[in-house]
Amino acid sequence: MKPRPPHDSDFDSALAAESSRYSRWGILRRRLRFQWLGGVWQLVLLLNRWGKRILDLLLSLLLLTILSPVILVVCTLQIVQGKRWLMLDERLGRWGVRFQQLEFSVDGPHKGVLGALGYRHLGRLINVLRGDMSFIGPKPSRPDDLDLHQRAFQKRSSVRPGIVSLWWLRKRANIDFSSEIEMDLEYIDRQSVRGDVGIALRALPAMLYGSGASTAPDRVDILGIPISNITMDEALEYILDSARGSRPRQLCFMNTDCANIAQRRPEYAARLQAADAVLADGIGIRIAGKLIRAEIRQNVNGTDLFPLLCQRLQGSELGIYLLGAKPGVPEAVRDWVSSHYPAARVCGYRNGYFTPEEESDVLRAIRDSGAQILLVAFGAPKQDLWIGEHLAETGALIAMGVGGLFDFYSGRVPRAPQWMRELSLEWAFRLMQEPSRMWKRYLLGNAVFLVRVIWWSMRRGSGAQSEFEGKL
Ligand code: UDP
Repeated sequence: MKPRPPHDSDFDSALAAESSRYSRWGILRRRLRFQWLGGVWQLVLLLNRWGKRILDLLLSLLLLTILSPVILVVCTLQIVQGKRWLMLDERLGRWGVRFQQLEFSVDGPHKGVLGALGYRHLGRLINVLRGDMSFIGPKPSRPDDLDLHQRAFQKRSSVRPGIVSLWWLRKRANIDFSSEIEMDLEYIDRQSVRGDVGIALRALPAMLYGSGASTAPDRVDILGIPISNITMDEALEYILDSARGSRPRQLCFMNTDCANIAQRRPEYAARLQAADAVLADGIGIRIAGKLIRAEIRQNVNGTDLFPLLCQRLQGSELGIYLLGAKPGVPEAVRDWVSSHYPAARVCGYRNGYFTPEEESDVLRAIRDSGAQILLVAFGAPKQDLWIGEHLAETGALIAMGVGGLFDFYSGRVPRAPQWMRELSLEWAFRLMQEPSRMWKRYLLGNAVFLVRVIWWSMRRGSGAQSEFEGKL
């Protein structure tokens, strides 16, 4: 049979369809359709990526809403009874960033039932809501499950490296007491835009301080007082070595105020000269070092040293005795130690207000405590003179005068915030706290100290080595 030729009208409509398909509007329509399909596909991909998070959010919100009456009632009961309603447990999350895993507490008659129903784990729903955790995922590790280097590697890879780091900043301010890795971790844990702006602003004056000392002399004489030019780490080693030694040693911290007092009180100057080690405390001594061209390695002050010492004492056979400050203050410092460093031993404590008649009892109490390390907080020069006179009777193997340290760690007096310490402005903070008592010490004292150093170094000629041989 002969094939039927296409009907004229069929042909016309096919032609019309084809020409409309390739017309400007046709092409545009098809392009839009493809773009729409592409958009839907991208949305699917996005949902796939965020789906887990969205599901986590929805489910945790739903569960928290349903369970909120129970949670509210139990938490209120706990608070009314003066008991804890929430417990925090530090864990490592994504990128090794620390977070607090939340657990609700429950006591009393409901403890059994609610405990069996897993009430305390409901706190984790808040962690899911906040994005710390997911419903499904690996078990969050504890910070001590990983060693410092593993954690640092994991975390450092989560942020872009920077030109200026917290370590760089603190090194310039001479307060780089922990390692570069620890400071990097601290930065990543607390990273925020505000924090970054703060670091950038603090970096500007820090550039003026000059770099950390690399070729510094081991000993620096300032106004005739021999300073042991050691780092915080070396000071800690020195304290621990002394505490395990056989001969009692005295360690002093010298800041600008101490140096000024030593100029007025020869017996105090003699005590500092006779001490086994005098450490450089504060920016004033560092500036003095620069003036006499002897770089001071680190600001080794008692307040920064104390927590590091407690950390090193954890689990060791060594113990400390806290002597000084107002009644109630050394007890609070003991509590601070036991809550922050539970394995560090405080062998005893006593306030610093006792009569000459009570002194022999105080000395006996220190001896009987068996402490090897004695911290005396009477303020300078009283504390250093007292140690010089009584060290042998205390039985301690290393004693140091620590000024207002107990007041800080008891929480009685707030310490300057970290950013002020990084700007070497801790003295300005103390001045703001007690202007009437401190203006003489800092405003006048710092200026007098610097003039004294310039005058003294001109008379003595240049050179930083001490004539006090045989010291640290
Ligand atoms: N203090 C003491 N006994 C005294 C005099 C003072 O225990 O006889 C304490 C006082 O309570 C304070 C510390 O010594 O806790 C001195 O603090 P300050 O800030 O004056 O010391 P700095 O660090 O300035 O040397």
